[in-house]
Amino acid sequence: ETKIYYSLRPHVPLPPESPPLSAASHALSLLHSSHLSPENTTALIDAATGHRLSYTEFIRRVKALSAHLLTTVGLSKGDTAFILSPTSLQIPILYFSLLSLGIVVSPANPASTKSEISHQIELSKPVIAFATSTTAAKLPSSFRHGTVLLDSPDFQSMMTTAASSLELDLDRVKVNQFDSAAILYSSGTTGRVKGVVLTHRNLISLIAGFHAALLETDEENRTQRVSLITMPLFHVFGLFMCVRSVALAETVVLMDRFEFEGMLRAIEAYKVAFMPVSPPLVVAMTKLEVVEKYDLSSLQWMGSGGSSLGKEVVEKFATRFPHVEIIQGYGLTESTGGAASMIGPDEAKRYGSVGRLAENLEAKIVDPATGEPMPPGQRGELWLRGPIIMRGYAGDDNATASTLDPEGWLKTGDLCYFDSDGFLFIVDRLKELIKYKAYQVPPAELEHLLLSHPEIADAAVIPYPDEDGGQIPMAFIVRKPGSKLTEAQVAPYKKIRRVAFINLIPKNPAGKILRRELVNRSLSAASAK
Ligand code: AMP
Repeated sequence: ETKIYYSLRPHVPLPPESPPLSAASHALSLLHSSHLSPENTTALIDAATGHRLSYTEFIRRVKALSAHLLTTVGLSKGDTAFILSPTSLQIPILYFSLLSLGIVVSPANPASTKSEISHQIELSKPVIAFATSTTAAKLPSSFRHGTVLLDSPDFQSMMTTAASSLELDLDRVKVNQFDSAAILYSSGTTGRVKGVVLTHRNLISLIAGFHAALLETDEENRTQRVSLITMPLFHVFGLFMCVRSVALAETVVLMDRFEFEGMLRAIEAYKVAFMPVSPPLVVAMTKLEVVEKYDLSSLQWMGSGGSSLGKEVVEKFATRFPHVEIIQGYGLTESTGGAASMIGPDEAKRYGSVGRLAENLEAKIVDPATGEPMPPGQRGELWLRGPIIMRGYAGDDNATASTLDPEGWLKTGDLCYFDSDGFLFIVDRLKELIKYKAYQVPPAELEHLLLSHPEIADAAVIPYPDEDGGQIPMAFIVRKPGSKLTEAQVAPYKKIRRVAFINLIPKNPAGKILRRELVNRSLSAASAK
């Protein structure tokens, strides 16, 4: 009999499926149900300039921008908007406007190269782009509605000039919950980058759990909670944080460019209570002296996710910051960023685990080779099913079919087990994906780049353990006869941080790289030193 793990959290009711409801209107209606007054509650703070926007002003800008996008720019429901920009206060406003119009939000890493961007655009087929004067040069000029510069006076006036006569039109846009809300770029378990399609229902479902937890707190007496978002807004976690914080009426501090001491300064200046982080940041906070210079007493908890956080790091952190709770979480872009997390101080003490399955979610642990379920307690590939699972990969039915099975199970590519108390442990990554500081590095892309070098006959890229980055990409390279290529010559390929030369890349009969063999080889070579 199939062992299915059901979430141990109380079931959280979701809004009825049928009336049209965008993730943005849902978040805004939850905001209005809070006892906080939108006029007196700060929505956004720019960490660098200290510039603040109240919720009233935020909503005013979202409405004005939406009306302009619909009428002056001519966008309509179902269009896709590509976004290439560093973090700024404009981004959450743009996300909310697009979401409330049913326009698909598709943000990419502003550090993407032109060729990465053209691949992303092929997948999501945007009709308009939003960029800044520094990123726009990387974009093609072929968008039907052109490129809007977020740092231009034009955009500023679209957000700030009232378009009240147009507001009637906005009410006419009916966004179905199962309409696409976002296309985010992720390599999934194998190969090149794909476009993960998330629906409004996915976002609404993820918010539901957080909102239910909030209602259990003493609402009337709750103080205004300030969050600092250190991760980029193009990642699922950043996008989701924007929607979540509005739904929970939090104040969000944004940093345009991550810088460690700037982060410490912001925690002190804005009395930050909550901060989602990636594991290397936790490592830095346990190690660096500069931390002592700042008053971090407002910090109550940090949510760590994106890659694994060692037990020793959590213990060290707990000694240095006894007043801060580290909440581990686990998720994928394909699961709207959620899947498992810790709630409360007791769960937070389960060092090494990533917490328990999120509300309304089911899981299976299967034998990765056969897809057969494993007995309780055994390790296997984690499969997930529930309302936060993506709809599929944009325009890639094959990749969708190999990741989502016909019963709706998402194959995570992570090797995991549950203990008898329902705590999830991530043991290893079965998929190719490398995570450097929680950023995705798809090996297939780096291999493709290396193979384009005239002196390289074959190449394979694998993760190599690294204390600061978690993992670094390491390349095994077969040189062409007569080549004098050296490690230093190859390293400039930006993201490859370690190189080994080899006579033959091990592959199976189908030509698939045997990465595990290379990983073992890299580790045994290191331990022999
Ligand atoms: P992304 O789609 O970029 O969010 O990457 C998702 C992948 O990151 C997961 O499938 C895991 O391999 C990894 N990951 C996320 N959170 C954790 C965690 N807490 N511990 C270990 N790995 C994680």
